[in-house]
Amino acid sequence: MAEQQQQQRRADIIDNLKNVRTAMENAGTSQKTRLVAVSKYKPAQDLLYAYEDGQRHFGENYVQELVEKSAELPKDIQWHFIGHLQSNKAKAVIGIPNLYVVETVDSIKKANTINKACDGLRSDPLRVYVQVNTSNEEVKSGVAPADVVNVCKHIIESCPRLNLSGLMTIGMFGRDPNEENPDFKCLAACKKQVEEALPGREELELSMGMSEDYVNAMRAGSTNVRVGRTIFGERPKKPTKD
Ligand SMILES: *Cc1c(COP(=O)(O)O)cnc(C)c1O
Repeated sequence: MAEQQQQQRRADIIDNLKNVRTAMENAGTSQKTRLVAVSKYKPAQDLLYAYEDGQRHFGENYVQELVEKSAELPKDIQWHFIGHLQSNKAKAVIGIPNLYVVETVDSIKKANTINKACDGLRSDPLRVYVQVNTSNEEVKSGVAPADVVNVCKHIIESCPRLNLSGLMTIGMFGRDPNEENPDFKCLAACKKQVEEALPGREELELSMGMSEDYVNAMRAGSTNVRVGRTIFGERPKKPTKD
């Protein structure tokens, strides 16, 4: 890209970030909420512009992309894996030293796979969130709300290399961002259930809210919003195969 275009790109990303941060500050919520910049399909240079503006938490969906970007970009970036993790790729993700969390544990089997893959690769337990299919859509991954306590219990009791630290949902697309969102409500209810069933642990994070509805999600208790297009612009339609 020509120099001038790059400068414009940089200015746009910094401007977008500023707008998101301002909207988050003005959300009027009491809990602390982390902004995860979702950078899938975006070139490493885009992430670097955000990084230079102080952004440290980034989210990626595809293993290959995450592996490449994490090798290339500063090592104090905190990576969130937010895609579907296939068993045979677990080691590639878990081996990234500055991986902050895997947000998409969607079954007991997956938890076991990741737990096993951590052996010898990480010294501290790996943070994980359990992904919940709050909208009950067949096409969406995630644990059914009724099974969340069970999966969390399994992770706590049988996965010593994992640190259960939150719940995550994508939710149904196209909901009105100005109305109470049943997916957010459901995830918050799941958190309450888990904390009642398995007391005495640190409070669980709630990872919910994306470009259209992160402010609404914060008002519903989100502590981790995942914002992509609003920061980096529209993405090309189709993912790289993974
Ligand atoms: C792509 C993606 C996001 C970001 O979505 P935007 O609409 O671009 O903000 C958040 N979470 C997950 C799991 C994603 O795959």
